[in-house]
Amino acid sequence: MEFMPQPSHSIAATAMAGDTVFGRILCGEIPCDEVYSDDRCLAFRDIEPQAPVHVLVIPRKPLAGLFAAEGEDAELLGHLLLVAAKVAKQEGLEHFRTVINTGAEAGQTVFHLHVHVIGGRPQAWPPG
Ligand code: AMP
Repeated sequence: MEFMPQPSHSIAATAMAGDTVFGRILCGEIPCDEVYSDDRCLAFRDIEPQAPVHVLVIPRKPLAGLFAAEGEDAELLGHLLLVAAKVAKQEGLEHFRTVINTGAEAGQTVFHLHVHVIGGRPQAWPPG
């Protein structure tokens, strides 16, 4: 099925990506509990953890969400997943879930791309 952009998936939403709470964390305006950092991404603990380990991995590039990623971002997207696995290992997790909520109806509340790394307890499937 072809991906149909939602209203929030607009060019305006992409342009606003630098303006989110995560954009403010990236520029040091808001503190975070950092667990990993490199030239392309930052990982920090979720402020409202849903499990004993709940880390967010975000690109430094202000992409509003997965819908805003393009071909040139392929390497960056792969890097985010590799960092998610690295963080999980660093946190002592053998079993963990990675989640990217895309669009408001899927639960995205912050429009700066982020990978949730969730673990440390059993998790049900399918998600709610
Ligand atoms: P999502 O609902 O997928 O967009 O995820 C956004 C996540 O960001 C939620 O799990 C929030 O708890 C988390 N969050 C929001 N503000 C902050 C913050 N200042 N520091 C850390 N996590 C945050």
